[in-house]
Amino acid sequence: MNSNNVPRIPLLIGGERVQSRTDQWRDVVNPATQQVLARVPMATADEVEAAIAAASRAFATWRRAPIGARARVFLRYQHLIRENMKPLAAMLTAEQGKTLADAEGDVFRGLEVVEHAANIGLLQMGELANNVANGVDTHTLLQPLGVCAGITPFNFPAMIPLWMFPMAIACGNTFVLKPSEQDPMVTMRLAELALEAGVPAGVLNVVHGGAEVVDALCDHPAIRAVSFVGSTRVGTHVYRRATLAGKRVQCMMGAKNHAVVLPDAHPAQTLDALAGAAFGAAGQRCMAVSVAVLVGAARAWLPGLVERARRMSVGDGSAKGTDVGPLISCAARERVEALIARGVEEGARLELDGRLPPLDGGLREGNFVGPTIFSGVKPGMALYDEEIFGPVLCIVEAATLAEAIAFVNANPNGNGTALFTQSGAAARRFEEEIDVGQVGINVPIPVPVPLFSFSGSRASKLGDLGPYGKQAVLFHTQTKTVTTRWFYDDVSAGVDTTITLR
Ligand code: NAD
Repeated sequence: MNSNNVPRIPLLIGGERVQSRTDQWRDVVNPATQQVLARVPMATADEVEAAIAAASRAFATWRRAPIGARARVFLRYQHLIRENMKPLAAMLTAEQGKTLADAEGDVFRGLEVVEHAANIGLLQMGELANNVANGVDTHTLLQPLGVCAGITPFNFPAMIPLWMFPMAIACGNTFVLKPSEQDPMVTMRLAELALEAGVPAGVLNVVHGGAEVVDALCDHPAIRAVSFVGSTRVGTHVYRRATLAGKRVQCMMGAKNHAVVLPDAHPAQTLDALAGAAFGAAGQRCMAVSVAVLVGAARAWLPGLVERARRMSVGDGSAKGTDVGPLISCAARERVEALIARGVEEGARLELDGRLPPLDGGLREGNFVGPTIFSGVKPGMALYDEEIFGPVLCIVEAATLAEAIAFVNANPNGNGTALFTQSGAAARRFEEEIDVGQVGINVPIPVPVPLFSFSGSRASKLGDLGPYGKQAVLFHTQTKTVTTRWFYDDVSAGVDTTITLR
């Protein structure tokens, strides 16, 4: 289809789907086939301003909406998402490339946050201390901040927007969302469903665009808080720019996640877990395992791992039986292929080469790279130092658990890590000593459910509080502490209410 004839994605401002008046548009492309699915606008400065103004107006009333009214919106919303699961997942696969099962997982992990937001009554309760002084009580209010903004990456276009706006809005804030310009369709559909569920006009707004729109959100004085998920380079920029403008900011950023394998681990389970975590979603997960540290005799597992990876089927994510879909763009494929070539030049051993995987005719134009494994990888090689964000697993070896822990801790990133073992003592030591925010024991991708919060650390995160869960309530509210004293004399009962302290 000629890209001028494809649907144009609207903005969402003040409850209306608005066609952008910009002259800058970008194609949204199916990465398996290069079919242009839609065109997305780079919103103008006036359109961003209009979205923020709509959110500011809506805040005046939404901030006073009763808890039950806010909670019921999210009860309806979770129902609508469940009803629309299949079409949402199909849309997500078409524009992002991951398999349909992964796409449903993407929507489902976001849905869990929506379910959590429906519990806002219990989550947003303040504290009370009675008689902090003679006849004096102190209590706290967790009040909404105002207009909050969210900037999201391409790799989880359902889950990550849903990490952000449901909790912010449930707390009584209004929101301006800037989805990834690479795959904004499913995010937009989720925003429309939120309005259908009863989110009032202006409470949730969506603007599309790139760096200019992001900078406008970071600078605007009416925006009180910014949530960002994406690369370390952009996240660092957003954190600096938005904190300089006086906002609360949380940035979840890039990663280099290590899995440590002890020789006593369960063999089949561990190989399956490593293959799924390294190559699933074409390695485009911020919690993907990209380095496996084989400890001692576990080094003998490498041929089994290569065999397991070789059996994975590369293809269109919408086709049955596909394990590894395409990378998001031609540029991403070229980048990953260049890093593989550089790994060979720098002396790592290419155990499995996923470049130019065998594909059906219709997919030859797609951005495919198959599972790729390097051994003999060392710090200082680009393969190790950079976040590859593709289906490439680096193998390193360590003599002991202590050496493996020191190796992982020397990497600047702190998003996720996992240990594979049958030993409780080893697991406890790992949990205590590893300096990474999210730890899995025989769980390769330990993303917490929303009863907890996402808790990456070190170079993978800027800001103190994580998205969703209890930390999201603290991030999206201002604590007000009220100290009260009331005077009364109970004359009729003849009781002296004055207590003398000694
Ligand atoms: P990205 O940083 O390129 O883009 C993220 C957002 O920033 C997008 O909305 C994009 O439009 C915007 N943006 C891009 N360039 C910008 C610029 N120069 N100035 C201002 N804004 C800009 O990230 P991506 O490629 O979409 O996503 C992949 C990255 O996200 C990986 O590094 C991955 O590890 C990370 N990620 C982290 C987490 C986490 O929780 N830590 C989760 C998912 C993804």
